Amino acid sequence: MDTKRPMLMLGAHISISGGLDQAFSRGESIGCTTMQIFTKSNRQWACKPLTKQEIAAFKKAWQSSFIQDVVVHAAYLINIASANPEVVEKSTNALMQELSRCEQLGIPYLVLHPGSNKTSPKQKSLAQIAQQLDKVIESVPGNTMILLETMAGQGSNLCSQFEELATVHKTLKNKTRVGICFDTCHAFAAGYDMRTQQAYESTWQLFDQIIGLELLKVIHVNDSKKELGSRVDRHEHIGEGKIGNESFSLLFNDKRFFSIPKILETPKDDLAEDLKNMQKIVSLLRPETKNELEIKVVEREVEAKSKQ
Ligand SMILES: [Zn+2]
Ligand SMILES: [Zn+2]
Repeated sequence: MDTKRPMLMLGAHISISGGLDQAFSRGESIGCTTMQIFTKSNRQWACKPLTKQEIAAFKKAWQSSFIQDVVVHAAYLINIASANPEVVEKSTNALMQELSRCEQLGIPYLVLHPGSNKTSPKQKSLAQIAQQLDKVIESVPGNTMILLETMAGQGSNLCSQFEELATVHKTLKNKTRVGICFDTCHAFAAGYDMRTQQAYESTWQLFDQIIGLELLKVIHVNDSKKELGSRVDRHEHIGEGKIGNESFSLLFNDKRFFSIPKILETPKDDLAEDLKNMQKIVSLLRPETKNELEIKVVEREVEAKSKQ
């Protein structure tokens, strides 16, 4: 008889220093059951192709790990919404490369910042995002989904409002391989409140009406240094920012989201800080949630690297 309970799907953005496969032991050491990684330097366009050995080592480490979903974040340089055709071409090619790396590694989700555009009308930029996504998806067959991240709306960044994300999705030809990554800090900075039961429910109701909950595949869990609607993207440790504990308690005790990978992107110098945030989240779980889910988050402290 299988009495295994589903796991609390919680992890962090984990370093791939020393090789992609090394992320697993790092994530497991603090009890991550999901994690986000880059598959290449996130601040460079170019990268070496993955070798057979790298792919095999990654898959082997994953197979023997209790880490379930692995999420990749695409490089920050990519801007498929740009008004500059050269940037669009470079970005589209880079995104194809990122998607193909995910396919090779068997990764289900690739998180992407939809992009920014200072000059074009918004509707035109949103149509451009959909058009470029279609190109990328058509050129890289497979199963990995590109997840458009909800943005804070800083500067000329697009897709801070649910309507914009819905417009992109509705414009796509290849709808089945594009979903959404909801970032709590970004959404809060964009004006979506989650601080009371009522605000929390109405934000998710809006999300469901405008985008559809079935498109939600990953949640980035970050508190916010800045106020509701500030449109400024500054992540803070869980419970220490303007979003606060109540919102995260509502989120982590919400059965609708139990199976969705939830990833911390809070400020850190080392894993000890991720662990503190994960322990904080566990402390917000109600007894009935703790009964229902298996929790891998370690209870001991992990050694903090000396800060230099
Ligand atoms: Zn992001
Ligand atoms: Zn994020």
